[in-house]
Amino acid sequence: MKLIFATHNINKLREIKSIIKSNIELVSLDDVAFFDEIPEPFDTLHENALAKARHIYNRFCINCFADDTGLEVEALNGKPGVMSARYAGESKSDKENIKKLINELSGKANRNARFRTVISLILDNKEYYFEGIVNGRIIDIEKGSNGFGYDPVFIPNGFNKTFAEMTMEEKNLLSHRSAAVKKLVDFLNSL
Ligand code: IMP
Repeated sequence: MKLIFATHNINKLREIKSIIKSNIELVSLDDVAFFDEIPEPFDTLHENALAKARHIYNRFCINCFADDTGLEVEALNGKPGVMSARYAGESKSDKENIKKLINELSGKANRNARFRTVISLILDNKEYYFEGIVNGRIIDIEKGSNGFGYDPVFIPNGFNKTFAEMTMEEKNLLSHRSAAVKKLVDFLNSL
C-alpha cells in the first residue's frame, strides 16, 4: 500500500520509515511533488491535522496521514497550543517564541505544560486519530542545544533535564510525537 505522510520534514519521515512494515510504501509531499504550504486555520490540533490529511487525500486519491503538535501550558489556558509555531509571529522564530512564553509566565507559579501530537489518518476515505502526550514543566532559563522549538525550556516529568539536553534517542523514547507515531504504526502494521 502506498501512503503519503503530509510533511516536508525528512526527519519525521525517516523516523516512521524505520519502524513501519515494508509492505507500506511511505512517501512524503516532496516525493509526490507537492510543494505548497497547506493552511492550518483551525483552533484544534485535530481539525488542523485532519484538514492537512484531507487536502492531500483529495488531491492525490492516495491514503494519507498528517500530524499537528502544540505546547499546551496550564497557566495560559492551553496556549500556545495550535499557535505554537507562530506564537510570537509569522517569522516562526524558536527564540522569539520562547521569549514570549517566558514573559507570559512571569509571576506565575504553575509551570505545568504538555506537548500533544495528533495524527490524522485517512484510509480508504475513513478517518482515524492517534494522540501522544508528554507532561512536564516550563523553566525560565534555556538549557541545552539539541532539538528544536520549545525544547530548551521543557523538562519532562520524572527527569531533571530539558528535551534540549537529551540526545535524540533519549527524547524519542518519551516524546509526544513518538507516542502518537507508535500508535499509528501499530495500527498500520495490524492491517
Ligand atoms: P509541528 O506541528 O510538528 O510543526 O509543530 C508545531 C510547533 O510546535 C513547532 O514549530 C514547535 O514550535 C512546537 N513543537 C512541536 N514539537 C516539538 C518538540 O518536540 N519540541 C519542541 N517544540 C515542539
